[in-house]
Amino acid sequence: MTEPYLGNAKNTIEVIKKYDFAFQKRFGQNFLVDSHVLEKIVRSADINKGDCILEIGPGIGTLTQYLASAAKKVIAVEIDKNLISVLNDTLKEWDNVEILNEDILKVDLKALSEEKNQGNRFKVVANLPYYITTPVIMNLLEKGFPVDSITLMIQKEVAERIQAGPGSKDYGALSLAVQYYSDAHVTAKVPCNCFIPRPKVDSEVIHLQKYEEPPVKVKDKDLMFNLIRASFNQRRKTLANGIKNAQNLHFGKEEVEEAIAKCGFPPSVRGEQLSLQDFADLADAFS
Ligand code: SAM
Repeated sequence: MTEPYLGNAKNTIEVIKKYDFAFQKRFGQNFLVDSHVLEKIVRSADINKGDCILEIGPGIGTLTQYLASAAKKVIAVEIDKNLISVLNDTLKEWDNVEILNEDILKVDLKALSEEKNQGNRFKVVANLPYYITTPVIMNLLEKGFPVDSITLMIQKEVAERIQAGPGSKDYGALSLAVQYYSDAHVTAKVPCNCFIPRPKVDSEVIHLQKYEEPPVKVKDKDLMFNLIRASFNQRRKTLANGIKNAQNLHFGKEEVEEAIAKCGFPPSVRGEQLSLQDFADLADAFS
């Protein structure tokens, strides 16, 4: 079986030249050229021969070669049509890879898992472009898509937002959604010189292991997330004002103040001070 050969600058530059490939900034194209980092991603994702992997943004197929060597099957979704002929070439030695020329934000992931993986859970792995990081994570976690785990290379700053807790300036709706749905761990810190072209900032690999059961119980999960969004959409306002002003929540002033008091929070409390358990209690106080 062919060994992955793209995890270095020399071979990557060769492929780019061969195809006269022009990098598209709008697609966040920074290709990995460090074999240690690539191996680390595969280890972080805990891939074995029974796994079906969904890779988002294969680029020229660098990470895909490593994933295909470790897994049963890889479905790789790439938006840039100019990369499809490159991928057909760089992945020709691996017969367990399927390339789809699609925008991951428009793919029906539930249908994809039924069509390609008998409805079984995917392990999602990606070196993700910055501009889709938050919507991709939210989609994968919130939409009931069959996912076992999500292993991502993301900007350090987003990894910090994901891991932030109450009181931190980075804490927000993304941190709380990730905490509710998954156990998150940073598994590697990756300097910008591991990519071509070099991004301006450093990156981190984060592994999100989806929970079978969320760590907090709440009667109405959608209401809890609407309350979370309402309180972080207006960060400088008190929690009470954030909820009263939210367009998709229709609670009166007294109802809001009563629910906040019922939870034992002071009237001036701000959303950024509340933990996931606090938001669950608040949602239950309203429902
Ligand atoms: N996996 C490759 C690697 O590690 O070298 C490339 C990673 S590069 C950071 C991101 C890739 O995602 C690019 O190939 C880009 O074209 C692709 N991409 C960007 N937006 C996308 C989208 N909405 N759907 C699918 N792929 C996308």
